[in-house]
Amino acid sequence: FCYEIISRAIINEHDIQYQEQLGHGNGGTVYKAYHILGKRVLAVKVIPLDITAELQKQIMSELEILYKCDSPYIITFYSAFFVENRISICTEFMDGGSLDVYRRIPEHVLGRIAVAVVKGLTYLWSLKILHRDVKPSNMLVNTRGQVKLCDFGVSTQLVNSIAKTYVGTNAYMAPERISGEQYGIHSDVWSVGISFMEVNVASGGSLSVSEPPVLPVGQFSDKFVHFITQCMKKLPKERPAPNDLMDHPFIVHFNDGNAEVVSMWVCCCLEERRAPWEGG
Ligand code: ATP
Ligand code: MG
Repeated sequence: FCYEIISRAIINEHDIQYQEQLGHGNGGTVYKAYHILGKRVLAVKVIPLDITAELQKQIMSELEILYKCDSPYIITFYSAFFVENRISICTEFMDGGSLDVYRRIPEHVLGRIAVAVVKGLTYLWSLKILHRDVKPSNMLVNTRGQVKLCDFGVSTQLVNSIAKTYVGTNAYMAPERISGEQYGIHSDVWSVGISFMEVNVASGGSLSVSEPPVLPVGQFSDKFVHFITQCMKKLPKERPAPNDLMDHPFIVHFNDGNAEVVSMWVCCCLEERRAPWEGG
């Protein structure tokens, strides 16, 4: 128990061995790394930031709430530190990676993933945290069948500092956010809808904001289609509230705690990626 607290609190840059690059986003680069003292694999996100020492301090204190996040549906935060003009954020490593590289996820798998996502968001909302960046690349899976959310906006200052260098539109943003209105729980709910629609419909590439999304008929259960449609209501107040999400028939149907289903699917997909010439 003590070990956990210590290893969550102090990670020194010199004790980290960087391994391969896992991916690159708008803000920074994510590496797989090994923490020698803690004897565990980490995901380290490195974000270059040219900001004052004062702002660095503010970001560090805003990130402190992450130590309090304790949910099986939220990525575990270990530590964050500044070295020169960049911040490194160390979290739990997920060996299945993010959902954006999986396509045409069968509904019985997607259902279990959706349950975890809804539970993770409900947990964040209960801490008065809005995710603000719900999308497939921020939903992580592992071979144990766990599904966890990452990259939620706990530090306003960090988000603002990154935003200065970031230009472009986000296809997962709710309409009210694009038009500059107030962001709320309902805006996160929109992004859940469009994320699950995308992982199921597209076979590569992203949805475009300008095209109204439509699900192909006949391929999905009525429960799934209804869930997506409700989440993507244009008017924020018409979208399901947190309790309505948990009580939605699609979520209730798959809320059986069966991690085996996701686990087997992740393992199969990883196997296929390793040996693409075998099998389908
Ligand atoms: P954005 O910058 O808009 O958030 P993004 O989510 O694609 O876009 P990053 O957050 O930098 O970009 O993540 C890059 C990639 O690193 C992700 O797509 C994911 O595949 C991988 N990744 C991130 N965190 C982890 C983690 N904890 N474990 C395993 N892979 C991770
Ligand atoms: Mg991300």
